[in-house]
Amino acid sequence: MYFDYAATTPPSDEVLKTFDAVNRDFWANPHTLYRPGMRAEQLLDQARGQVLSLLGAEKGRRCIFTSGATESNNMAIRGAANLYKSRGTHLITSAVEHASVLTVFQSLESEGFELTVLPVNESGAVEPAVLEAALRPDTTVVSLMHVNNEVGAINDLPMLGKLIKEKSNAVFHVDAAQSVGKLPLDLSRLQVDMLTFSAHKFFGLKGSGALILPETMVFKPLLYGGGQEFGLRSGTADPARAAALAKALRLSLENWEEHFAWVSKLKYQVVEMLAKIPDVAINGSADEGSPYIINCSVGGVRPETILQGLGDREIYISTVSACSAQQLPESYVVRAVTGDQKRAQHSIRISLSSITTQAEVDALCATIPAMIETLR
Ligand code: PMP
Repeated sequence: MYFDYAATTPPSDEVLKTFDAVNRDFWANPHTLYRPGMRAEQLLDQARGQVLSLLGAEKGRRCIFTSGATESNNMAIRGAANLYKSRGTHLITSAVEHASVLTVFQSLESEGFELTVLPVNESGAVEPAVLEAALRPDTTVVSLMHVNNEVGAINDLPMLGKLIKEKSNAVFHVDAAQSVGKLPLDLSRLQVDMLTFSAHKFFGLKGSGALILPETMVFKPLLYGGGQEFGLRSGTADPARAAALAKALRLSLENWEEHFAWVSKLKYQVVEMLAKIPDVAINGSADEGSPYIINCSVGGVRPETILQGLGDREIYISTVSACSAQQLPESYVVRAVTGDQKRAQHSIRISLSSITTQAEVDALCATIPAMIETLR
């Protein structure tokens, strides 16, 4: 039983079918000038158009296909910071961003940029007033995530975007890896300039993601070469991966409300179960956060021991963030959210998806309390 969908989801049959079909019929290099190549290019552009339209970004935006959110975050933040360097060198992010955002900012800081890392409130979200106080005339890039990958906190993008545009000249980048396909995102109504995501978080393929950005933003690429993807990401593009991403996005968004309601119901049950266990504290807000993610700290037991105990029963949950589990003995996100080192060292994450079943959640709820008692 899998409860780690925030780390990744399995590619759906429909996505695999699309990937296979396009690979078989449209395998020509999309940058060539003969008919099969042009047909492959058409398909690539069709996928691009679909993604933009599904995210309300038809007007004045581009969709760059990348290897995933890590690459998109690197490209967007580094690209924009350097593009606007003559205007200013002050950058803003938050303490709970994914490593693929935080470490890019840290590397820019070591290159001479000035970095402000915003704290978060006890839900794990950035308070608009805290952002407002940090914005300066020389701020050029603000990067804040939509949904936090560890505690599920949701940032108020309409409010944060409005503040950034009213109080500064900065561009607003949003890492939406944990919200695309799960929450509606309409870029035509948001003051968000750049948006990043990975397909494997919503039943697409790993190694596939995108960066949505304004047509007018042309910065230095990370990869130089043949100038593909509007010069921003060289290398032969993959129409099959692009079509699979567009398919995964369309399918997820078609039923997002139904999925949201289902997962909310399951989350409620899990939170109720956890709340009854002595010395277990929910990290972030149980009511306001994303229903897809539940995080708690279990006093008196090491998270690895809980993971192992559950793993022995073929129940898979996660500790810290999957991407940095090897490096960090504590969760910097839970630390920033709670201010408590013990809680940060004892946190576990249970993440759900639209394909999580009632029977799976019942089994989880029947197993965890007794297991924690035994381990203690
Ligand atoms: N940002 C967030 C919020 C994430 O959850 C992840 C995946 N853990 C990433 C970025 C990176 O995505 P990928 O590993 O697909 O590049």
